[in-house]
Amino acid sequence: MLTDHHTHLAPDDDPLDEEALSIERIVAHVTAAMDRGLAAVAVTEHIYRFRVAKPAWAHPYWETQTQWDIDAYWEALSEAKAIGFPLLVGIECDWLPTGQEVLVEALRGRPWDLILGSIHWVDEGAVDYDLYSAFDHIDSEALWRGYVDRYARAALSGQFDVMTHADLPKSFGPLPSPATLGWAYDAIADALAAGGVCLEVSTAGLRKAARELYPSRALLERCNQRGVPIVLSSDAHAPADIARDFELAVEAAVAAGYSEVQQLKGRDRRPVPIG
Ligand SMILES: [Zn+2]
Ligand SMILES: [Zn+2]
Repeated sequence: MLTDHHTHLAPDDDPLDEEALSIERIVAHVTAAMDRGLAAVAVTEHIYRFRVAKPAWAHPYWETQTQWDIDAYWEALSEAKAIGFPLLVGIECDWLPTGQEVLVEALRGRPWDLILGSIHWVDEGAVDYDLYSAFDHIDSEALWRGYVDRYARAALSGQFDVMTHADLPKSFGPLPSPATLGWAYDAIADALAAGGVCLEVSTAGLRKAARELYPSRALLERCNQRGVPIVLSSDAHAPADIARDFELAVEAAVAAGYSEVQQLKGRDRRPVPIG
């Protein structure tokens, strides 16, 4: 049985209020996961949804998003897990070149099941959000170089169990030259291996402009060659997308040479055979 390691209870622009954290919402989430035959589903809201993350970065998007209560989030999920729902309590945490110590502190002291590491920003520009798109300010060569620099530093930081959507920029702007792309794939795979961190194979890319998994086949093969462990994820923001297209993720993993995926719990992992 498989696990979906990356889901959200609400779309990013919806409130993360009492309704979003209600037991009804959590039951709908878990029911969708069980209907799809999953062993468990991880809920991994963005850290930038929570007030506790606000001091990390003075950026208009960050400042408007950081308005919800991390204690309420933690309690809602922990209570549901305690009564037996197959839930993993997680969080999707950005890695920021400055201010990261605020995020580390915000996560401290809670027994998370998993902490996802993400790069969504290059300088002041968003990789995956049109309103602040980094592609409006720098060309794709510079964007990919900046993105990979951050991604590698995050993978090596020791702060994360899983690194997310490795080639995210491909869905939001033009690709760089083949030489830069090849360099990017090598640098990402090297950093994941050196950092001892899992990579997610995410089906979210199939629902975006790139119409392919994160990561691409060429990047996944490089990760396999370096022994980087993988987990499966959907990055669902609604129950209908939980574990969506997992058969394609499994197929891609097998084609890249993988015979197992990891299942996380309590920030530990164990392998499960696939294919
Ligand atoms: Zn993300
Ligand atoms: Zn996400």
